[in-house]
Amino acid sequence: MTYDVIVVGAGPGGSSTAAFTAQKGLSTLILDRTGFPRDKVCGDGLTPQALYWLDQLGCIDEVLTHTKSCIKTCDLFINGELLLTGGFPNTTHYPDFCVLLDRRRFDHILLQHAVASGAEFQAYSLVREIHQTPDHARVVLDHKGQRMEVQGKIVIGADGVSSVVSRSIGNVLKNGATALSLRAYYQNVNAEGAQIKVYFDERFFPGYAWVFVDDDGFANIGLGYAFDKPFPMIPNLKQVFQDFLDQDLCHLLRHASRCGAVSGGAVSFFKPKAIVADRVMLVGDAANQADPLNGGGIHKAMEGAYLAAETAYQAVLRGDCSVRALLQYQTQWEQQFELDWRTGELFLSVAKNPDLKEFCLFVLANIARMTTHDRQFQEFCSGVFSGVLSQNICLVPQALFHAMPRNPAAWMAMLQLDEKGLVTGPLSLAIDAMTSSAKASSRMLMSPWQSLNWSLEVMTKVLRLARGHAEGSFTPTGSALAKCPI
Ligand SMILES: Cc1cc2nc3c(=O)[nH]c(=O)nc-3n(C[C@H](O)[C@H](O)[C@H](O)COP(=O)(O)OP(=O)(O)OC[C@H]3O[C@@H](n4cnc5c(N)ncnc54)[C@H](O)[C@@H]3O)c2cc1C
Repeated sequence: MTYDVIVVGAGPGGSSTAAFTAQKGLSTLILDRTGFPRDKVCGDGLTPQALYWLDQLGCIDEVLTHTKSCIKTCDLFINGELLLTGGFPNTTHYPDFCVLLDRRRFDHILLQHAVASGAEFQAYSLVREIHQTPDHARVVLDHKGQRMEVQGKIVIGADGVSSVVSRSIGNVLKNGATALSLRAYYQNVNAEGAQIKVYFDERFFPGYAWVFVDDDGFANIGLGYAFDKPFPMIPNLKQVFQDFLDQDLCHLLRHASRCGAVSGGAVSFFKPKAIVADRVMLVGDAANQADPLNGGGIHKAMEGAYLAAETAYQAVLRGDCSVRALLQYQTQWEQQFELDWRTGELFLSVAKNPDLKEFCLFVLANIARMTTHDRQFQEFCSGVFSGVLSQNICLVPQALFHAMPRNPAAWMAMLQLDEKGLVTGPLSLAIDAMTSSAKASSRMLMSPWQSLNWSLEVMTKVLRLARGHAEGSFTPTGSALAKCPI
């Protein structure tokens, strides 16, 4: 039998794609190397955007019945200091909360939903090769020790960050910025304050640590660090994570116990050479679609899934599954999400240079201070960081001007003026700004060749973004989507 669509990988990208294609009446086979339910190293945070897509898929109720935590606020710590408790904006198409659900249960619910929608699932199928012919695509796999072949009109690679399908169409993996993360589960966590806590810190910047804790005191705690070829991984991530647990979380974890081992995972943030080829499309981590600003990739995989399923449907209907027909998927992804992705990637490119970490943390801390007295500005910042608001909006001067705090108290907080308005703050702020930028410059001068390469990379990305804006391809996130009914 020749399936209309074969989906490789049953994570959020694969199961969402399969549910969408099956709902459209396409015969769909999902293959995964493991059986389900299975664990996947993740923060387990389902963002407002992910909730939106779960609703579009028709399984939001099922997901919400498995989680009690409906989280509206987040604490932000910079270098150990709690600077902000913020929330999601409530003025977008998305809900203003997120939920936590472990990937063991979440991915299983999504897969069951795909199967209930009409897709077929074959577990323990490790895909090895993809061969494209004029008539179909042939998928070679190992199934319980047996070599097997299945064929489909289109293969959708949703097989994660070390995608075989991506490699089969000529992409090179590990070819740019990547974040490596460690995650551990704890129970009996003392959940004071917001149930989401994000920590930026000199010890592990560029990157951040997180504590996501549910209503029962069960927590997902992790730490991710971004690196790239010229800026290698810190050698002792495990020790840095342990120090973070022991020092920063000693109060939170004083009655807690760890459940299971510390596990590691990765997400990549560079553009692959191609996300479509003859009879092949890539979605989710296989296409490096995760948000470079915060590492969230579940909703990005679901966005990719929606667009890939639309294209697959049209291609099968027309009987044309050539790269030319499938380019519709790439074009739609670029129109809707590329500028945001590139904006996040630009920020990551700046932050990944360790010479700048003090300066970046200085800027972040001052933005955070300003948000404490201005709800609109706080929602703007948390909206941009979480991707609920279009990220490239923060590069549009008019939008930035509109979002800037109107409340004088916000500016006073940044300038650290005391109640009587003594102007001691501006001076120390200026000194701090000059000190951190002077330190960054002198460190960069010590490795001029690396700094030159890095500057060229950042400049190229700025120019590419500017061209995108000039060509008018600016589309706020979600604008092309229906209103979220949640
Ligand atoms: C530590 C960490 C924390 C994160 N936290 C969050 C978070 O809180 N919120 C968020 O939105 N995102 C988070 N992410 C990102 C998120 O996990 C990914 O972006 C998301 O899982 C991508 O989904 P996917 O379906 O593309 O790939 P995956 O979820 O990786 O699924 C790929 C599937 O393909 C299967 N597979 C792989 N190779 C083969 C093969 N050769 N043959 C057959 N099957 C194969 C795998 O078994 C797997 O089931 C985090 C990532 C990490 C590493």
